[in-house]
Amino acid sequence: MKEKTRILVIYTGGTIGMMACPKSGALKPFNFELMYEKLPMLKRFSHEIDFYSFDPLIDSSDMKPSFWTKLAEVIEVNYDNVDGFVILHGSDTMAYTASALSFMLEGLNKPVILTGSQLPIDAIRTDGRENFLTAIEIAASFDGDKPMVPEVCVYFESQLLRGNRTTKLNAENFNAFYSGNYPALAEAGIHIKYRIDAIRTPNDDKLIVHKNFDSGVGLLKLYPGISKDLVKSVLNTPNQKALILETFGSGNAPTEKWFIDLLEEAVQKGLLIFNITQCKAGAVQIGKYAASVDLGRVGLIGGGDITTESAITKLMYLLSLKLKPEEIIQLFQQSLRGEISS
Ligand code: ASP
Repeated sequence: MKEKTRILVIYTGGTIGMMACPKSGALKPFNFELMYEKLPMLKRFSHEIDFYSFDPLIDSSDMKPSFWTKLAEVIEVNYDNVDGFVILHGSDTMAYTASALSFMLEGLNKPVILTGSQLPIDAIRTDGRENFLTAIEIAASFDGDKPMVPEVCVYFESQLLRGNRTTKLNAENFNAFYSGNYPALAEAGIHIKYRIDAIRTPNDDKLIVHKNFDSGVGLLKLYPGISKDLVKSVLNTPNQKALILETFGSGNAPTEKWFIDLLEEAVQKGLLIFNITQCKAGAVQIGKYAASVDLGRVGLIGGGDITTESAITKLMYLLSLKLKPEEIIQLFQQSLRGEISS
């Protein structure tokens, strides 16, 4: 057990630190100094807690790759001086940020726990208090001299989830996040129970921070009745290098000739098209049904059980590495940070 554990809390914005604007009633982020006032028990931790606040604070709907780079830089600069990080973040795009950070932080060996809340911290029934305080506790947990969870995680409503496996599932319930293809890394009740076999093993790797993203990634969700014009325009989006096709069930799509021909034409022109399921759990298995056989034949790449959030950020990351298409395909299908089952 360490004598004094140091945690850096990074505040990006989000509901947890919002207050209603007196005029319009709309929620806007408040300054972090107020957090101590709203949450005095922060002072009762025996850990040393430092704060870094972004300026301006944002609603996470304004999240973008350049912000992820700044976030990773704050982690990089402070990495050797602290034992763990807690990132306060809006829940709307938290799963994207958690996924992006997991790819940016290669060789991570300290906890990076993202949390937030559905109700502002000063609301009487806020979920923010428990989320924030437990996230600090988790970030500061050690097994001997090894951190319990040397991963990028999302902590929300008693569950610690691997960040790049999460999806925001509920805009209203406190239990807002879901990880359909990977078990929770810990459950917090009276005790915090860690699922050791599911947590990445800490190692002695050196942290390498990848700071670039290539936004030439598109996303198309299929639905019955999707028009030829829409499919055509998405496939022909300028500067698009990779497209994620959210298909039905285990990777199925319409079998109509116009649809398959358009995909084939785009693949021939060099667009990388990845087939992932729009289901929240389960995996793509191209060829399981006749309705996916043609997708494999024209060159779509199976995305296994990866989430949409992870697929988008992983492709933005891989494209930025300027690799050959076959290398991108190979790395996409392989687990880099535990984001896909092999
Ligand atoms: N709109 C807010 C945000 O994502 C919602 C939240 O924090 O839960 O910043």
